This record gives sequence, C-alpha cells and structure tokens, in this order.
Amino acid sequence: MNLVLMGLPGAGKGTQAEKIVEHYDIPHISTGDMFRAAIKEGTQLGLKAKSFMDQGELVPDEVTIGIVRERLNKQDCENGFLLDGFPRTVAQAEALESILEDLNKRIDYVINIDVDQSILMERLTGRRICKDCGATYHLVFNPPAQEGGCDKCGGELYQRADDNAETVSTRLSVNVKQSKPLLDFYQEKGYLRNINGNQDINIVFDDVRKLLGGVKQ
Ligand code: AMP
Repeated sequence: MNLVLMGLPGAGKGTQAEKIVEHYDIPHISTGDMFRAAIKEGTQLGLKAKSFMDQGELVPDEVTIGIVRERLNKQDCENGFLLDGFPRTVAQAEALESILEDLNKRIDYVINIDVDQSILMERLTGRRICKDCGATYHLVFNPPAQEGGCDKCGGELYQRADDNAETVSTRLSVNVKQSKPLLDFYQEKGYLRNINGNQDINIVFDDVRKLLGGVKQ
C-alpha cells in the first residue's frame, strides 16, 4: 500500500509511522530522517540541507524531490511505502504524482493526523529521541522507563536542535501555511483521510488500521 502521512509537527506522525511500517511491513521514508542522516555523514546533501533545517525552514524543493525520486525507485518500495514529511508543498505533491506515474503506481491514502494546535507546542518541546535507534519519547506523555535512556536499545536520549521553543514556533507557522494548500490538493484528488490525533497513541493507530483494513496489499 502506498501511503502519505501528514500532520503538523508534534501530531504524532513519527509514532504512528513506526506502528504502520511494522504492521504492514513497508519502508518508512522520512525526508527529515534522510536529511539528518546526510548531515551526520557530512555528505553534499547534508551540507545543503543543514542551514535550512537549523532555521526551521524548508529545504528547497529541487533538493528534496531528487532524494525522494531516488528512494522510491529502490526495490524495497515495490510492495508499498509510507512517506513521512514529504510532500510538504504543492510543487512536491505534483512532483510525487509524476514520479509515481512513471513507476505505474498511485497513492492509496493520504492520512492526516489532526491535532489541536494548542497542545502541539507542549508535545514538541517535551520530545526526546534516541541517539542510536531514533525511537521517540515524551517527557510527560510517553516517558522512557529509565530517565534519559532508550527502552529499546539503552541509547542516550536527546532533544532535537529544532525542538526548542523558538524554532518550534517558526516550524509550526511555516507548516500551517504550507500544509493548507497541500490538504486542499489531496482533498480534491480524493486521497485525504483525517484521523483524530487528540487521542491516545493506540486509539489513533486503531483508527488508522480501520481505515487501511480495506486496502489491498
Ligand atoms: P521533520 O523531521 O519532518 O520535522 O523535518 C525536519 C526538517 O527537515 C524540516 O524542518 C525541514 O527543514 C527539512 N525537511 C524535511 N522534509 C522536508 C520536505 N519534504 N521539504 C522540505 N524540507 C524538508
């Protein structure tokens, strides 16, 4: 199944993405993760992306579309994929339509995890991520068993550089402005499904599974 996951920063995209890719055995394609990996490795791509990311701005479309095209052409996407964090602009969404058309594929659903903006700020500033395996936690809503350590691998937890209050506020306003035309685009195509993300993590996932139950794998 070919899926796009949407939601403002802090909506729980990462958490739901982990559950979806495990349950449906499809690759998780997160452009944010790809950029962070490139920065860590010190590649050309990482150098290009870093200055934009550090300021909470979008990496230019031509860079982002290029890495997604390359990724979707890989063998492991044959039985489906979950795109997370892409597309973020209508230009990216149009490019995705054309990439998929070339591959003789189409999107099954665009899942939008809908969360009240008032609680997004609180969620984001409390987010912690494992340095080693990338698992996400929240100091209040989803704390690890041992403070500062990952339940899965014991790795050290850190706060992403762009999860500080000032950058979060920029990211939210950039995202609200960018996502509206994108949601309209997918609504018009008939792909968009809204899921109530103000609920417990497992109830949100139950709703996702109810939606995807009818999709052929
Ligand atoms: P994320 O992990 O999805 O929150 O992404 C972190 C940062 O990576 C964003 O704030 C952007 O700077 C960059 N980024 C990730 N995905 C995209 C995209 N589709 N288009 C442009 N920039 C992106």
